Amino acid sequence: MKSVRNVFFGFALGLLSLLLFQNCTDQDHVGKMLRTDFSSRTPTDQNDGNTSTTTITLPPVGSEADPIIDPNCLTNDDYNACIFFKNPQFHNADNPFNPATNYSTDLTEHQVYAVNLKGLTNNKLQNSNFRVTSLQTGIEEAKPNPDGTWKFDYANDSNHKVAQVMTYYWIFEQIQWMKENVGTWYPENKNILADSYNESVQNNAYFSSSDNMIRLGVFTRSGPGGRSEAALSAEVTVHEMGHANWYYGNRTRNNFANTVVCPESNNTPCCPDDRGCVSAANEGQADVHAFFLFGESPSIGNFIDNNVGGLETNCGGLVVSRNPEVNFNLTTAAITNNCPFREIHWYGSVYAAIWWEIYKDPTSDKIEVAKLFNETIPVIGPQDTFEEMAGRILNLDAQFFAGKYSSKFDTEFRRRGLIPIF
Ligand SMILES: [Zn+2]
Repeated sequence: MKSVRNVFFGFALGLLSLLLFQNCTDQDHVGKMLRTDFSSRTPTDQNDGNTSTTTITLPPVGSEADPIIDPNCLTNDDYNACIFFKNPQFHNADNPFNPATNYSTDLTEHQVYAVNLKGLTNNKLQNSNFRVTSLQTGIEEAKPNPDGTWKFDYANDSNHKVAQVMTYYWIFEQIQWMKENVGTWYPENKNILADSYNESVQNNAYFSSSDNMIRLGVFTRSGPGGRSEAALSAEVTVHEMGHANWYYGNRTRNNFANTVVCPESNNTPCCPDDRGCVSAANEGQADVHAFFLFGESPSIGNFIDNNVGGLETNCGGLVVSRNPEVNFNLTTAAITNNCPFREIHWYGSVYAAIWWEIYKDPTSDKIEVAKLFNETIPVIGPQDTFEEMAGRILNLDAQFFAGKYSSKFDTEFRRRGLIPIF
């Protein structure tokens, strides 16, 4: 049965890069992610609800204090904001909520990721790279409290200020991560608008290059339960900004040039065949951006769907997930043969899973792989299939890392029936 997410939303091809619309299942903390040492976290820390002291070694106090999980965040003066790491489900021991949460659900006990907002211009949620606001009529702009903090209690958050702060914090972290690790953030100083809450965007979130904005909508779960702001799911926000990085990395590329329309599915963008296409790679690479920050929990949309594994589509028994671990053996041919059409997010999940396998490989230097990933963004052409992209990746690997990762990429692409073309 088709859920509301299987009904496609009309949009102008070429303008929008959509995250979701799938009815749709993680682990291994990887790389130099956040400065918090999650390896020392105990189950009670992430399950919280208790007031015991975290076992995380406290960093030096002050405005530069590194993030920690702190059940007492709201009263911890070392931090100026209390948000969620990734999304609320992460703090529920990665378990679905029962019942599923709604706006009115008090999530304060999970609002325990203690952080300090940085890089603010004029003490607003903005800087030269992006600015956060809600385009929803009647929503108040988040401003600091009289004590200077940005702490807003989700139990009493009718203006969706936690969503605004979440949006700012995670985009800032994403940009810092990219600049510190791979060296380049293509949309530098592009002043992208992040619409943190908008009820007119239903079951969706997207980056619009023509408007230079990301829009974070409202999701209604297919099962019991209510609605969720997309902005509470930081991996969704980071995915959308991943589209911005892709766009600004090659503004002359038409991301839909080699994309066809699936008449079976109300004009959904599809790849011409199971060799893949650029718009599918765009979706997959956007997920990879999220894996960099949330590698210990690489599922996409798990809170939105109240599902441990994240968004997934079941194609007559074939699970096409937004979790690369689930997609370990997924091939584009299997999607072609089992799914009703050749939708770009599904094929994109294969592209994401290939990068994930190389990135998480313990013999890989994760920062090198991330650099290689970012270097591929400008060189992928509008007519490329995944096979041609594979060739470009291998060429760049030869150029930057003396072919260190080539056999791994070659194996991963071929394992999925994709033969690198040079
Ligand atoms: Zn997307």
